[in-house]
Amino acid sequence: MVEIRVDKTASRGIAIAPAYLYQEPDLTPDHYVVDKDQIEQEEERFGEVKRAVLAELEQLAQENSIFAAHLAIADDFTLQEGVLGRIRSGEKNVQQAIAETVEEVAAIFGQMDDEYMRERKADVLDIGKRFLIKCKNIKVQDLAAIQEPVIVVARDLFPSDTVKMNPKYVKGILTQEGGVTSHVSIMAKNYGIPALTGVTGILEKVQNGNRICMDAKSGKIVVEPEESVLAEYKKLLEEEVKEQENIRKYRFMEPVTSEGKRISLCVNVGNTEEIKLALDKNIDGVGLFRTEFLYMENSHFPTEEEQFVVYKEAANLCPKEVTIRTLDIGGDKSLPYYEFDPEENPFLGWRAIRISLDMPELFKTQLRAILRASVFGHIRIMFPMMISLKELAQAKAITEECKEELRREGIPFDENIETGMMMETPASVLLAEEFAKEADFFSIGTNDLTQYILAVDRGNKKIASRYDPFHPAVLKAIEMIIQAGHKYNRKVGMCGELAGDVNAVHKLLQLGLDEFSMSAGNVDYVRKAVIDEAQR
Ligand code: PEP
Ligand code: MG
Repeated sequence: MVEIRVDKTASRGIAIAPAYLYQEPDLTPDHYVVDKDQIEQEEERFGEVKRAVLAELEQLAQENSIFAAHLAIADDFTLQEGVLGRIRSGEKNVQQAIAETVEEVAAIFGQMDDEYMRERKADVLDIGKRFLIKCKNIKVQDLAAIQEPVIVVARDLFPSDTVKMNPKYVKGILTQEGGVTSHVSIMAKNYGIPALTGVTGILEKVQNGNRICMDAKSGKIVVEPEESVLAEYKKLLEEEVKEQENIRKYRFMEPVTSEGKRISLCVNVGNTEEIKLALDKNIDGVGLFRTEFLYMENSHFPTEEEQFVVYKEAANLCPKEVTIRTLDIGGDKSLPYYEFDPEENPFLGWRAIRISLDMPELFKTQLRAILRASVFGHIRIMFPMMISLKELAQAKAITEECKEELRREGIPFDENIETGMMMETPASVLLAEEFAKEADFFSIGTNDLTQYILAVDRGNKKIASRYDPFHPAVLKAIEMIIQAGHKYNRKVGMCGELAGDVNAVHKLLQLGLDEFSMSAGNVDYVRKAVIDEAQR
C-alpha cells in the first residue's frame, strides 16, 4: 500500500477503481538529414500534415470551442513561419522543425505571469503533438475506447485526450503535471470527475490495473489499499453519492429567502462551451462572461464578426441573461500577439477598461459585436476595473457611438441594453452612490476587490493567508456597494469567487446581495445553502 498526498484539488470527489496508465507516444523527431534538393519535399510534407491537422481540428471545433482556439493556433502564421524557416535553412527535417518551433512558442506562454496563460502552454504542446503524430504516422492509445470503470493516470492530459473520455467510465484522473487551472482540471470539474493534478512521482508509484482509492476533496491517494482502508473509502464514496443525490433534489427548487426575495444564481464562463455544460444546473443566466479568453486563445485580436458569432451563440444558449464583460486584459494577462510594455506593478497598471479607453477602435470592435448579438437574447454589457465617473461616462459614450453607427447601418440591436460595471476597486466603493446613478447594475468582483482593499496581491503564495475576502474591511465594502446600488434601485450581483463559497451565503444574503455568479460546479451547493438559510 502506498499513500500520496497532494495539497491542491483540481476537481473534488471520491473514486475507487483500477488504474489505467496512459502512455504517451514517443514523439521524438527522427534525425534524418535533408539534402538541398529534398527541402521542397519536406515543405510539402509539412503542408500535407498541416492540412490533415486543420481538418481534424475543424471537426473537433464543431463540438468543443477549446478546439476552435487550437485551430487558430495551428493555422497561425508564427507557427507556420517557424517551421518553414527551419526547413528552408536546410538544417532541420520537418519533424525537428515542428518540434523546435512548438517548443519555442510554448516557452513564450510558459513564461507568462498569469497562471491561466501559463497553462495555455499545454494547448500549444497539444497542437505540436497532433502535428508530430501525423508526421510520424503513429497510432495512439485511444482513451475513447475505455469501457469499464478506471482511474486514468498520466504524465499530463491534453484537451485532445480529455475530450475523448467518457465520464461514465473514467471515475477519476491523476496527472503528474498540470495545475488547478489547466484544461484537464476545467474539463474534470465540468464533467464532475474527481481529479488531482501535479501529483509528483505518480507514474513510478502506480502500475496498470493497481487498485486506487482517491479522495480529491482532501488530496489523498492510496495505491493498492489494505482492506480496512478500502472499506473506509467505500464508506466515503457512499456518503458522497448520498450527498450528491441530496443536493440534486434542490436543483429545481427556487432559491427564495425567508423574506420571499428570489435570488438569481448565475455562472461565470470563459467560453460558450462552459455555458453548455452549466445549462443543466438550472441557472438564471451568465453573470460574468470573461471575454479575455477569446482574445488570449487567439492568434490575433478577434474581429467584430468573430466575436459576434461567439456572443450570439452565448445569447442563444442562455436567453435569460448573459452579462458580457468587456476586455479585461493587461497587467498579468497578456496576449501572444501584442507586446505590452513591462510594468513595475502590473495589477496597478495598464489593464482592463484603461486599455479599452486608450484603444477606442479595439473597444468599439467589441462593443459593436456585443450590441449586434443583443437581439438574440438578453445581453448586458459590463465594464471592468472602473475608478472614476469620467471613465464610466467615456465607456458609455463610446457605446452610444457604436449604437449610432449601427442605427445608420440599419443593423438591429437591443435599444434597452443595460450597461453596468464591476465593483472591484476601492475608488468604486467610495463612489458607489455616484456610480449607482449612472450604471444600470453592479457586479462585485471580490477577487480584485480583496486584493485592492487589503493591498494583498491575489497571486502571491507567500501572503496567501492574508488574502481574505471575509476580512471585515472587504465585507464593509460589499455592504457599502449593495446599499448604494439598492438606494438607486440597481440590481447588485457578485461574480468574484466569494459568490461561490457556501460559507459566505449567510452573510451575503444578510447584506442583501441579489445575484450570485460562480463556476458551474458551485451552483448546486449555493442553491442549497440559500434554501437552507430560508428554512432556518
Ligand atoms: C474579480 O476580480 O472578482 C473578477 C470576477 O474578475 P477577475 O477574477 O476576472 O479579475
Ligand atoms: Mg477582476
